[in-house]
Amino acid sequence: MNFESLGLIEPILKALQKEGYEKPTPIQEQAIPIVLNGRDLLGCAQTGTGKTAAFALPVIQLLHQKQQPQNGKRVIQALVLTPTRELAIQIEESFKAYGNFTKLQNLVIFGGVGQFPQTQALKRGVDVLIATPGRLLDLMNQGFVDLKHLEIFILDEADRMLDMGFIHDVKKVIAKLPQKRQSLFFSATMPPEIQRLSSTILTNPLKVEVTPPATTAEKINQSIYYLDKADKKTMLLHVLSDHTIERALVFTRTKHGANKVVKDLQSKGITAEAIHGNKSQNARQLALKNFKNKATRVLVATDIAARGIDVDDLTHVINYEIPNVAETYVHRIGRTGRAGASGIAISFCEAEEVSYIKDIQKLTGLIIPQGEDRGQLPKPSFDITKGVPAPPEHSGRGQRQGQGQRHGAPRQGGGGGRKPNNHRGQHSRSNDNRPKSDQRTSNVRSESPSSAASGNSSSAGDNPPKKKSWSSFFKRSN
Ligand code: AMP
Repeated sequence: MNFESLGLIEPILKALQKEGYEKPTPIQEQAIPIVLNGRDLLGCAQTGTGKTAAFALPVIQLLHQKQQPQNGKRVIQALVLTPTRELAIQIEESFKAYGNFTKLQNLVIFGGVGQFPQTQALKRGVDVLIATPGRLLDLMNQGFVDLKHLEIFILDEADRMLDMGFIHDVKKVIAKLPQKRQSLFFSATMPPEIQRLSSTILTNPLKVEVTPPATTAEKINQSIYYLDKADKKTMLLHVLSDHTIERALVFTRTKHGANKVVKDLQSKGITAEAIHGNKSQNARQLALKNFKNKATRVLVATDIAARGIDVDDLTHVINYEIPNVAETYVHRIGRTGRAGASGIAISFCEAEEVSYIKDIQKLTGLIIPQGEDRGQLPKPSFDITKGVPAPPEHSGRGQRQGQGQRHGAPRQGGGGGRKPNNHRGQHSRSNDNRPKSDQRTSNVRSESPSSAASGNSSSAGDNPPKKKSWSSFFKRSN
C-alpha cells in the first residue's frame, strides 16, 4: 500500500515525499479513504501511530479541492480541538508541512500566551484552526472566532480531554458548531464517557482501530529495576554512564521531583532540564528545543508536560517514578518507538510502586523483565512481589493527571524537519511475552452511534480513563 493508492493528490504526495514518508501507517491506510469519502470517523489510536497525518492529509485534500473564495476573506472550514499546547503546535506544523504545496492557511491558538497575535491572525482569515479548548472558548466568547462555515471538526485525544478536565469546555464548543458537518473523533482509550461523547458528535461513523497501546509496549525493549527509593539517583547515574545513550526522557510524577532529578544530574555534570507546568511557556519550549537538538542530554518531565512530545530518534525513556495510572505508562514509553520505530524503556520501582507495576502488566499483558546491570546497587530491601501499599497521596487511582495544570505545557514541534520514524534506530530485542490471546489486529467497521454509546457509567465528565479500558474496549470490538 502506498500513498497514491489511497487517492491522495499530487501536492500532498509531493509534501509527503519531502517529509520522507514512504508508506502509510495502518491508521492512515484505513482512515484516509474514509475521510476523503466524507464519512464521519471514530479512530481509536494514540500518539505515535501517525494519526495526525491520518486526519490532516484528507482534510487538506478536501479543502484544497473545494472552490476557494477568489478575493474574499478565508473562513474557518476545519477545526482541530486538541488538549495541550504541545499537541496543538505539533498538529499545526503537520498541517503546514503536509499542505506545503497548497494555499491553505492554518492557525494554532492556545492559552498561556497573549491573545493579540492570535486575534490578528483570525481577523486576516484562516482555513484550518487548531486550538486548545480553553483559549478557543475564550476567543469565541469574545467574538473573534466564527465557526458558521465550518465543514470538518476533528476532536483529537478525546480521552485526554476528559483526563485533563477539559470535557465541559469541549462540549460547549461542540454546541456551537454547525449541525451539518463532517466529524472525526480520535481517542486512545474508550471509557464509557468518551463513547457517549463520540455518539453525540458523530453521525453514522466508520470505526478504525489500531493497536498501539499493547503493540507499542510489545515493540519497546522494557526493563525494570526494583530498588529502594534512596537508590534511584545512583541508578539513574549508572544508566546514564552508558555514553551510547545520547538522549533520555526521564519521567517523574511531580514537578518537585522533576526539579530534584535535574539538580542531581547537573551536579554530576550531566546536562539536564525540566519541563513541567510551573515553567513558563517559553522556558518549556526552549527546554524541548535544547533536547531536540541534543544540547541537553536529559529532559525530565511530568506526564502532562510530556504529553505528545515528539522527538525523532528518542531511544530511551526512563521512568524514575512509576505512574499510578497504568495507561500513563504506555503513553510514556510511547515517546520512544514512534510510528513503528523502537526504543528502550527502563523503570525504577520502589516498594510503594509495586502495585502500579502490577496494574501496568495487567493492562499490557506483558511481564516487564528485570534489568540485569545494576552496577554496584544493592538488592532492594523489600519483597518485589509484594512491595508495600502506597501512602494515601500516592494511592489515588482516580486522581486526575491534569490537576493543577489546566493549560498543560508547551511543546515545540519537529514539523517540517521531521524524519520518517521507520528510519529510526532498531532496538536490540523485543518483549514477546504477551499472551497470544491478547494480540489484536486493526480493523474497520461500521459503528452506529448507539452502539458506540453503549456503556453505562455514572461517572462525571472529569473522571480519568477507566483502568484496563484498552483491553476491554479492543476485546469488545474484535
Ligand atoms: P503522530 O501519531 O501523528 O503523533 O505521529 C507520530 C510521528 O510519526 C510523527 O513524527 C510523524 O511525523 C511520523 N509519521 C506519521 N506518518 C508517517 C509515515 N507514514 N511514515 C513515517 N513517519 C510518519
